Amino acid sequence: MAGPYEICVLVKQVPDQGSKAGLNPDGTIDRARAKRMLNPFDRYALQAALHAKKSYGGKVTAISMGPPPAVEVLLEALEHGVDRGVLLSDRRLAASDTLATAYALYKTINYCGRFDMIFCGLQTTDGDTAQVGPQIAERLNLPQVTYCEDFSLEDGRVRARRIIEGGCQKVVSELPVLITVANSYHPLEYKSFRGAWKVQWLQRHPEDLQKVISTVDLDAVGADADRCGLKGSPTIVAHTDKVGELGGSCKMYEGHSPEELVAEVLKASSFKEFISAS
Ligand SMILES: Cc1cc2nc3c(=O)[nH]c(=O)nc-3n(C[C@H](O)[C@H](O)[C@H](O)COP(=O)(O)OP(=O)(O)OC[C@H]3O[C@@H](n4cnc5c(N)ncnc54)[C@H](O)[C@@H]3O)c2cc1C
Repeated sequence: MAGPYEICVLVKQVPDQGSKAGLNPDGTIDRARAKRMLNPFDRYALQAALHAKKSYGGKVTAISMGPPPAVEVLLEALEHGVDRGVLLSDRRLAASDTLATAYALYKTINYCGRFDMIFCGLQTTDGDTAQVGPQIAERLNLPQVTYCEDFSLEDGRVRARRIIEGGCQKVVSELPVLITVANSYHPLEYKSFRGAWKVQWLQRHPEDLQKVISTVDLDAVGADADRCGLKGSPTIVAHTDKVGELGGSCKMYEGHSPEELVAEVLKASSFKEFISAS
């Protein structure tokens, strides 16, 4: 299958973990108050989608699911060079687990059209399950390349290198395909001046912005509301614990050989105490 290709990238807005603003006293996230950012893993997916567009031709659609402020990640994607954005936003999606999220995103992808390549991040920094990409591939009945750290298109097929334990694996897949992109892929390039200018202009012209970024709800994408949100989420969070601040101190030992390093460590009194106590 030769280009141009229809390319899709899934991007999620997550709470900024660098900021403590937005934490409830019990340690859970107050999503309304938390600072927001593009999921760091999705920066690699975005780079992969833009690389496919630049190298092989085509158009990139970025899709996100979240509350209205999630449009910010679509604007950011637009600044980097995607062609259009679609935000699935609906109050009935609140409390969706991965099963419900993957279902809703699958419906949105189908609503947007037919794609040759769908790129996802490896995982998110909030949910952190890495399940959404593979679940969408299953629902779309597509081959999936997970943990992909490099790829090229040859003879209309994807040739990809994926991380496996202790090394890497080279795989070939027919199109269409869903790819989850590892964070050892190339980092996201800087926003283009043209992209940044375009977004600034669109923000001053809301009627034109709506043509490039559309917001849709569950009814528009033909999703069954009972399969979304709390109703469609079999996951039960029984209990959460706050992870305490990491304490302690660290001392660096230097030596020319492992033997010297071990001798240095053995000289340390705290280690001797540890040995004698155990
Ligand atoms: C009981 C329960 C209640 C929850 N309630 C809420 C809630 O109210 N609000 C909330 O925000 N989260 C909630 N979550 C978390 C939510 O279920 C997950 O964040 C969501 O299912 C996605 O899973 P993940 O973050 O682990 O994605 P992963 O599987 O780790 O993500 C992999 C990739 O899939 C794509 N992706 C994942 N999610 C999205 C998205 N929303 N839009 C676009 N692309 C995406 C991205 O490319 C991402 O890199 C809840 C979870 C549970 C278990």
